[in-house]
Amino acid sequence: MVSQCKLKCTSKFNDEEKQLIFSKLYNGKPKNAEDTFLQDLMETKAIVRRRKRVADGDELNAKPRTAHFQYFVQKIEEQVPVCKQAFLNLYAISHFRVQRLNMLLSKGESPKDMRGKHNTRPTSVTAETRTKMQMHIDSFPYKISHYGERH
Ligand SMILES: [Zn+2]
Repeated sequence: MVSQCKLKCTSKFNDEEKQLIFSKLYNGKPKNAEDTFLQDLMETKAIVRRRKRVADGDELNAKPRTAHFQYFVQKIEEQVPVCKQAFLNLYAISHFRVQRLNMLLSKGESPKDMRGKHNTRPTSVTAETRTKMQMHIDSFPYKISHYGERH
């Protein structure tokens, strides 16, 4: 349904291999385990990963904040690099799902972690703290700040 890429990544694999790649993901594992599996097949150069550190050192220094993702598919023993298009095709997953995993990967989080930390998310703590601070500031007597600004 999606057209092949210029590099013809999907033509690197025969039908049997495609079936194998596909079944490695869909083997009855829970959804969050699928996501973890997929995330393990992604790499971003925005964060330093030990096994690629030496090879990509120069590129990391040049563009530390650029989120560039590399995708792999899992064959029996080796991981084969493919483009995003092929990654989506071979695993029959949505662009949206990959985007979410990309985002988590950039932050150094795994899909599993996110579930566990749901109730203590930093954003909600920040919002609560901000409200408390606002209340605290509002409770200051008006005259103090007014007096300070005059001089
Ligand atoms: Zn490709």
